[in-house]
Amino acid sequence: MVYNVVIVGAGPAGLFAAKEIATNSKLNVLVIDMGKEVKERVCPASTYKACTKCNPCSIMCGVGGAGTLSSGLLNLRPDIGGDLATLINNESESWDLIKYVDTIFLENGAPNSIYNPSQEETDYLERKAASVGVRFIPIPQRHIGSDKAPKVIENLKKHLESLGVRFLLKKKVSKVNKGIVELRDGSKIRSKYVLVAPGRSGANWLAEESRRLNIPSEYQPIDIGVRVEIPAVIIDPIIKIGRDPKFHIYPETYDDFVRTFCVNSRGFVVQEVYDDFIGVNGHAMAEKTSENTNFALLVRVKLTEPLEDTTTYGRTIAMQTTTLGGGKPLLQMLGDLKRGRRSTWERINRGIVKPTLSNVTPGDVSMGLSHRILTDLMEGLDKLDNIIPGVSSSSTLIYAPEIKFSANRVCTNLDLETPIENLFVAGDGAGLSRGLVTAAATGIIAARGILKKEEIQHNN
Ligand SMILES: Cc1cc2nc3c(=O)[nH]c(=O)nc-3n(C[C@H](O)[C@H](O)[C@H](O)COP(=O)(O)OP(=O)(O)OC[C@H]3O[C@@H](n4cnc5c(N)ncnc54)[C@H](O)[C@@H]3O)c2cc1C
Repeated sequence: MVYNVVIVGAGPAGLFAAKEIATNSKLNVLVIDMGKEVKERVCPASTYKACTKCNPCSIMCGVGGAGTLSSGLLNLRPDIGGDLATLINNESESWDLIKYVDTIFLENGAPNSIYNPSQEETDYLERKAASVGVRFIPIPQRHIGSDKAPKVIENLKKHLESLGVRFLLKKKVSKVNKGIVELRDGSKIRSKYVLVAPGRSGANWLAEESRRLNIPSEYQPIDIGVRVEIPAVIIDPIIKIGRDPKFHIYPETYDDFVRTFCVNSRGFVVQEVYDDFIGVNGHAMAEKTSENTNFALLVRVKLTEPLEDTTTYGRTIAMQTTTLGGGKPLLQMLGDLKRGRRSTWERINRGIVKPTLSNVTPGDVSMGLSHRILTDLMEGLDKLDNIIPGVSSSSTLIYAPEIKFSANRVCTNLDLETPIENLFVAGDGAGLSRGLVTAAATGIIAARGILKKEEIQHNN
């Protein structure tokens, strides 16, 4: 069958693009994903060995993409998880897009409640942060929860099917060309438009395809750091003001950009399995909770020649840390890190913070991260301690590595069409977004680009 639009990747970017096209046109749409149906997406165990059996990784791949089994925290700002205003060159439209994406999540079962701090609360936290030179970023947020997110995605998929969208799952796309998508099994699917939205799991593949097709792309800065786990009571007062409070810090020694990210109140630390290393991440569920809160503390790293390739640098650090951990992430008590000694299970078990991820190796994070990054992180934590007293105490747990890669930014026009005619890109895999809402928004931008071209051709 010949399709009008083939979308590669059933993550938020791909699904929201399919929704936009199917709602506003009669174009027939096929969504291809190498992963499985929502219900089949089960991580065999949160262990490295078990996860090697699961290829492609169930956490990252399948219907809903990396968002399905995530905590589903929707950051409702166009400058969080990307920069939509710059991308479309229009500030007010970028806010409209965010509202539109949120409406679709709501229509498909996202909870009605929203965290939107009052002006008074925001002022209080901004003042407290500013007094130690830190910026607090207030964000309206909707928390779906990892136990509810799969249902929201299933609802959206059913809705898309009712609009005529077809899905081809467990099929890996190996090549994209003008008007043709080639699968790994050798079969070819013809389509007038191709929209590639392969997320982080397909970012390397898209970078290779871009090189093969001579589509220019640029390296992006990445974030390297750790996941911090503390008793929830320490940060509860701040969480009341913002579900995922974001602090931007420039520590003294290096003046690098350090930020808190992905705060999971009463949540769990999880492994993030890559081909050649094991990182960490965190999630929170709407119904199952822990005594701890975790968040990422990340340092922004941008490189200049001769090594602009931030991905290679990040992977090298992550592989070194995984090697030190014998194939597992490292876990260290902050007190041990400050004293320059490796943590042990005996000391960790005596501590007041019980790790929510046990498939780790007690170790020494300073052996894996560079001096500069470690200094940024320690100074960042000390600054945060003025805002969240207790966050920099000896019992605080540090998991490493946590790395937020940014895919190469594929060169496009404002409609996200590449220099190859009718070949569009969207989402994290194309370096356009770094979050559920922004990924979905870029899918909509690309979809509108396709609809615009169709309309122009129709009118001619
Ligand atoms: C554990 C975890 C927790 C997260 N929590 C949050 C959160 O709370 N809030 C938030 O905003 N963001 C969160 N994120 C990030 C968020 O999930 C991503 O930003 C978002 O899913 C990106 O959407 P996307 O559509 O660009 O790509 P993805 O969601 O990654 O989807 C891409 C899809 O493309 C498929 N694919 C890739 N290559 C191919 C190929 N060659 N052939 C066929 N299919 C292919 C993959 O199987 C995948 O299903 C989290 C991520 C993780 C891993």
